Amino acid sequence: MTAYRKDPDAALAPYAATQTNSRGRVHAEPRHPYRGEFQRDRDRIVHSAAFRRLIYKTQVFVNHEGDLYRTRLTHSLEVAQIAQTVARELGLNEQLVEAICLAHDLGHTPFGHAGQDSLNKCMRDYGGFEHNLQSLRVVDELEEKYASFPGLNLCYETREGILKHCSRRNARELGELGRRFLEGGQPSLEAQLVNIADAVAYNHHDVDDGLRAGLLKIEELRELPLFGRQYTRVIQSHPGISRKALIHETVRGMINVIVTDLLDITRAQIAQADLATIDDVRGQPKPLVSFSDEIFRQHQELKSFLQKKLYRHEKVIKMTQRADEIVTSLFELYFGDPSSMPTEHAARAAAGAVESGDSGQARAVADYVAGMTDRYALSAYKRLIDPTLEF
Ligand code: MG
Repeated sequence: MTAYRKDPDAALAPYAATQTNSRGRVHAEPRHPYRGEFQRDRDRIVHSAAFRRLIYKTQVFVNHEGDLYRTRLTHSLEVAQIAQTVARELGLNEQLVEAICLAHDLGHTPFGHAGQDSLNKCMRDYGGFEHNLQSLRVVDELEEKYASFPGLNLCYETREGILKHCSRRNARELGELGRRFLEGGQPSLEAQLVNIADAVAYNHHDVDDGLRAGLLKIEELRELPLFGRQYTRVIQSHPGISRKALIHETVRGMINVIVTDLLDITRAQIAQADLATIDDVRGQPKPLVSFSDEIFRQHQELKSFLQKKLYRHEKVIKMTQRADEIVTSLFELYFGDPSSMPTEHAARAAAGAVESGDSGQARAVADYVAGMTDRYALSAYKRLIDPTLEF
């Protein structure tokens, strides 16, 4: 009798990304005796320092504002949960999907989008800063763990999924990985799926967090059909339900509606496109993983609502301004005096300066600041700039 060994590509759809059709790793490595290639990618991401730091990075609410809010880590796990459910249903590569989800936000700065905007301003004359590209930089270059290569040496498909968008200028530097941003074409269905699952996750968990924080009002949310219908359904079938359970049941119902629509429409579009291989996926004129027009409209409506009522709420804006002050001052301080960074970062800044002058030095400083957690940035600011800071 032959011993049982599961083929990681077994039971996947013909158009899924598999380790057999993978474009491989930059540095060739022998196969592992019992772990699949995308499982190895997922494992490398989970063991990375950047992944551990996600727990102390802001999603919308600053980490120390309360223990119940999402952080970048719990956000990434929720994205993975949603995307893996859909992947399993569609016969897509669940392990690849999980790897992309867990890595997609590794390049985020402290203090969420506020931190990224500040760092982008600081880097204006040195090639800019974009968190999505930074996530790729973390896995390609910045993690230092292996004897034979820099970064995590992930498979092409994992890196393709991490790079959701990219400017033409940056795409030109990225070779094969940047080609679709210059010549058109789509990434794998797994990558398309993670991109949408990211938005589904934050739209819904931000409703939950926004209500918990008292920044969003149920009466206003009820005017959105996506929320309103589920809210009414829950309260009619459970009139005595507690507020907490009501919110959870409503949000859960919303995710169910939107994910079911995503599955139905995507399944139909895949069937219509008559896909035989992953190359057929990449050659499509537009993404095949998408919502119906009506659900897309409702999804966008919720997104705009959150923009207006939550992300631009005065309390969130106030945090944004302080984050801008902290990130900008730290960048300027380290750029002016790289030796005030820890030795390995000071050495990278010096090497960068030799290689490409100010922009090389600035990039090393941006890498250091971007890697900081919220609390690390706060304590550096207190120690080096303003000991009286209260955040
Ligand atoms: Mg995200």
